[in-house]
Parts: sequence; structure tokens; C-alpha cells
Amino acid sequence: MLLKESKIIITGGPTREWFDPVRYISNASSGKMGVALADRAFKISKNTVFIHGPISEHLVKDKPYECLKIETTADLLEEVLSEIEENSVLIMCAAPADYTPVEKSEEKIKKQDGDIVLHMKRTPDILKNVAEAKKIRKLKNFFVAGFAAETTNTENYAMSKLIAKDLDMICLNDVSQEGAGFGVDTNIMTLFTRTGLKIELPILTKEKAASEILKQIDAELLKRGD
Ligand code: C5P
Repeated sequence: MLLKESKIIITGGPTREWFDPVRYISNASSGKMGVALADRAFKISKNTVFIHGPISEHLVKDKPYECLKIETTADLLEEVLSEIEENSVLIMCAAPADYTPVEKSEEKIKKQDGDIVLHMKRTPDILKNVAEAKKIRKLKNFFVAGFAAETTNTENYAMSKLIAKDLDMICLNDVSQEGAGFGVDTNIMTLFTRTGLKIELPILTKEKAASEILKQIDAELLKRGD
């Protein structure tokens, strides 16, 4: 099974967790890396789907592949679980919010003197749910890549994530380095594979980084030989 014969599912951008009708918790993910991956993926397989959180409209305007917009981490989980299937590749480039408010107020919370406390709970870990779904549904020819944005002890965290989330590949982005991280147009990444490879990429535009990631996924699929 090669990439060109696979369904490629890319996620990108942040999610939003609302705590009243006008306010939410989110993060600074721009979605640019996800778009770069989806653009490149579509050149390889016409069966490409991009699931994205709230990102600039122009980033997804007139794309030739299917773009599915979601808001919350729970929405993203639902969409990912409905898109994955046999002979598919999931690249989880999104930066889902890790916490969501315990309660969402129906009305705008009135400003008052003094501080307020917002109680938050964990959102579901999508990749862990995907790992479970893969086992339960006995998905064949399924490949999953995750991302890790770290500032300290980067390699150890990336490797433990690869194992804990049962990934085939993890793309480590050392966001403490200049030229890497949220919002910028370049990335500095190291790819680790389940098969034990460590590939250090130089500083690259997100388009070139996307191309390298997909090239490496193709090589991993080729190794499987089915
Ligand atoms: O554990 P951490 O959030 O650092 O892992 C990053 C990877 O996990 C990314 O691939 C991200 O898309 C994914 N993720 C997830 N579910 C979450 C948060 C992150 O699948 N709730």
C-alpha cells in the first residue's frame, strides 16, 4: 500500500472551547503546517481530507480537496473517528485545546470587580482514541503520524509520545528554536518512526517540511510491503 493509493486525512489548526457565548479558550496554532501537508498530500492522492479548526478563511479558500471545519476538540475527535478507515493515513497536525471549561454559560458572564475562577476539565486525547479504534475495528493498512511541539527535553518527550499514543511516526518541532513554532512560515523538525529511524530536517519552509514528512511516510508504507 503506497501513499498514492491511500486516503490521506490531515488535521490542522487550533480548537476553541467556549465558556460563554462570546468567550473561548484556544491557542496560537495558525493551521499553516496542516494546509501545507494537505496541499502536498492532494498532489499524491486525490483522496485527501483536511479537518481544521478555526483558521484564516484564505488558507482554505478554493482548495481542490475536501475541507471539514470543526470548533472543539470533541468535534475533532468525532470527525477523525468517522474519517479513518482501512488503507488510510492520518496526520494529526492540529493543536487541540487540552482543557475545556466544565460549564458553558448560556449567557455572557458579566464583568465584576475582582477575579473569577474558570474550572476546566481535560478534553479527550484524539490520538489515544484513534489507537483504541484501530484495535477495536481491526483497521488494516492504517498509518498514523503525530506532532510534538516541545521546548525542553524534546527527544525524550517525542519518543514517549510515539509509544504512549501508539504512533507510526512523530514529527518533533523544537519550538524554542528561532524559525520553528506557531505562526512562522518555517519549521525545524526531527522525524522519529516506529521502525527506529531518526531523521533530522534542516530549517525548511512548511511546504518543504510537508513534502519531507510525506516522503518519509511513503517510505514507511513501502517497508510494510502490503
Ligand atoms: O500530548 P501532546 O498534545 O503534546 O501531543 C501532540 C499530538 O497529540 C499532536 O499530534 C496533536 O494533534 C495530538 N493531540 C490529540 N488530542 C489532544 C491533544 C493533542 O490527539 N487532545
